[in-house]
Amino acid sequence: MRANKLSRAVLAWAIALSVGSLLFVQGQEAVRSAGRRLGFLPVQGARGVYVNAVYPGGPADRGGLRAGDEILVAGGRRVGGMLEYGEAARRFESGRPVLLQVARAGRTLEVTVVPGIPPDWLPLLLNILTALGFLGVALLALTQGADLRVGLLFAFCAAVAVEIALPVNVIGRTVLLALSFSGYYLLTGLQIAVEMHLTSLIPERPGWLRRRPWIVPLYYVAGCGVGILSCATYLSEQILSRPVFPWTLEQAERLLQDAVFPLWSLAVTLLLGSQALRQTEPRKRQQAGLVLAATIPWMLFIVATAALDLAGHHLPVWTITLETLILLCYPVAFFAAIFRYHLFDIELAVRRGLIYTLLTSALVLVFYAALGAGGAVFSHWVEGRESVWAVSAATLLLGLLFSPLRRALHRVIDRRFFPERYALRQQLIALAGELPALGKLPRMGKHLVGRLTSIFHARSATLLIANPETGLLSVLSSMSGAMETGVLFPLDDPGVEHLRWAGRPLPVGQLTFRSPAFAHHGPEPDGLAVPLLSQERLIGILIVGRKDGSRRSWPAEELDLMSLLAHHVATVFENARLFESATYEGLTGLLRREAILEQLDRELERALRYGRPLTIAMADLDHFKDVNDRHGHLAGDSLLRRMSQILAGGLRSTDWIGRYGGEEFLLVLPETGMEGAAAVAEKIRDRVQGTLVPLDDGTPVHITVSIGLAALEEAAGRAQGKVTARDLIAAADRSLYEAKNGGRNRVVARVA
Ligand code: GH3
Ligand code: MG
Ligand code: MG
Repeated sequence: MRANKLSRAVLAWAIALSVGSLLFVQGQEAVRSAGRRLGFLPVQGARGVYVNAVYPGGPADRGGLRAGDEILVAGGRRVGGMLEYGEAARRFESGRPVLLQVARAGRTLEVTVVPGIPPDWLPLLLNILTALGFLGVALLALTQGADLRVGLLFAFCAAVAVEIALPVNVIGRTVLLALSFSGYYLLTGLQIAVEMHLTSLIPERPGWLRRRPWIVPLYYVAGCGVGILSCATYLSEQILSRPVFPWTLEQAERLLQDAVFPLWSLAVTLLLGSQALRQTEPRKRQQAGLVLAATIPWMLFIVATAALDLAGHHLPVWTITLETLILLCYPVAFFAAIFRYHLFDIELAVRRGLIYTLLTSALVLVFYAALGAGGAVFSHWVEGRESVWAVSAATLLLGLLFSPLRRALHRVIDRRFFPERYALRQQLIALAGELPALGKLPRMGKHLVGRLTSIFHARSATLLIANPETGLLSVLSSMSGAMETGVLFPLDDPGVEHLRWAGRPLPVGQLTFRSPAFAHHGPEPDGLAVPLLSQERLIGILIVGRKDGSRRSWPAEELDLMSLLAHHVATVFENARLFESATYEGLTGLLRREAILEQLDRELERALRYGRPLTIAMADLDHFKDVNDRHGHLAGDSLLRRMSQILAGGLRSTDWIGRYGGEEFLLVLPETGMEGAAAVAEKIRDRVQGTLVPLDDGTPVHITVSIGLAALEEAAGRAQGKVTARDLIAAADRSLYEAKNGGRNRVVARVA
């Protein structure tokens, strides 16, 4: 992984440095050779160099050179080819007339031209811009994961960037020129193959290509064959000056211009067009459409050039600038396809980073431009030494304003350009806020996994919560059945320990690899395991299954948001767990003794203040010791749990129930007088009596309950408002004692 990263960095630097230095040579040569230029566009001719076009008003134009002329002799040297012309031109000097012998319409003429034209900055600038545009797309592609299309885009754009940067404009530097032209032919061949391959895969691999796997190798054989043959023809003719092939360089050039390039551009356009038409999904259609839109001008230009050439016409000189502009469309369209239509799903972080950098630089530039403009306006007042102070003060101001301004700018960028990220963030913030209000852990867990699957379009989600007393992780809730409830993992499981040690979301595969238990219970290996850490203690694990319809890994951006959410969730769940363990009792889930007494105090105070009825009940299971003795304590426990459910199930939502002692329960019934309470108690007693609880071994156990009641209305001291919780409990205990003495399995309302 690291080696991969390193080789990408090396590749990026190598390409960027080559393009940069080639552009530098090209620029240097443009300036240096401007003095020797005659102002025409030469191409290889049959006998000499052929004038493809003449710059209007340039030295060649003024001297009488015309498009279509063939230069036979220049400055006293015979010109057989471009290299010889270059050798001759090396001796040209600005302002010193040069005698040319040219062939025009079968006649030989002499033309005198005075060399020297000002460097033509516009085409040079456009060339640089286009090369940098392609370089930019290539480098952006390098930052991406292992997608074949991304690799092809890199290869294509790097090849175009280098080709455009090649200094084919040098005059008289034979080796450099030979290398540049060889590079040009080879890179062109490579581009043909790679672009055909790439456009066949945009927006995705079509069925016909899958069925005919031999097509792709064919692209490469054809493209590279064209490149190598052209290069060999060029070298044999220019360097060896001896034809090796049965065709000439001119014929090869014309074949490229008039047949190969038009066919290539038409094939690319047709491929993209059919992909765009065939796609039913709007986003994919737009991706293909956008790249198509960028290739149509290029195709039209190539086809028009070929058609004009075949008809014997020459293109005007300004079309070279047009061609560069047209080529520039391509990287622009790719940038747009990547940013707007998420071709390749370039990581959000990269896209945001680029836009942030651009806009932040613009901000600084605008500021200093304003400062400069202000300086010019106020130069009457601010001069010399004072201007230093003014600039310093302004820079200080910029420094102070910069951070808040940049933060505001980032917020606007996020909302404007990355609505999906903004929405995701907002949804996660909302989710974090909703959890505490849900109260109990199981409801919070259920809500969390439900919302996460829908927010991340995940296939499943599971929440495991740690129990510090048992040292076990258990499934609290699971969406889409990724893991069965009842699955337990020890906290010292190697997979769990690795996740805690990493402290950040990891692919589930990294856990299953270390832990046979995890592998066995099989959460999806390409899901994501998120540790929930509270003060460096692992309190749970969130497992989110693979996203719907995606084979890609999780974007870094989403991992960051997931970590943030996990941090928040861990705190909320830990607080809830602490609260629950302080309030609810472990075996039955009912209120603890302290908690039910607290509720009793509260209800009693209210009943006394407003003169409302209140009754309490003390329930004790009959001969419970026998159950323990006969079936064991574990069976006793499960019976106790079942009985708690029956007791709690018989109450209203405003009533309270707690485990007062071993198998004794305290029930608090607000707004209920003795009559009503007796009815409730009788109902509960009856249900307990009617319930057969099967034990683990299947034996049904039957048990009864005795219940003693005490009502506030009858307690002594009520009139003075002096009744205490102790009084009530003591009264209920007396009733319970009566019930036990009276033969058990009964309700005693008041002590006779
Ligand atoms: P009775 O109330 O009808 O007089 O008889 P009893 O057998 O229920 O007697 P008592 O209430 O005095 O005994 C309570 C027994 O309940 C004692 C203990 O063995 C059992 N017990 C208390 N707490 C638990 C518990 O958490 N789990 C289990 N399995 N047994 C418990
Ligand atoms: Mg008992
Ligand atoms: Mg008891």
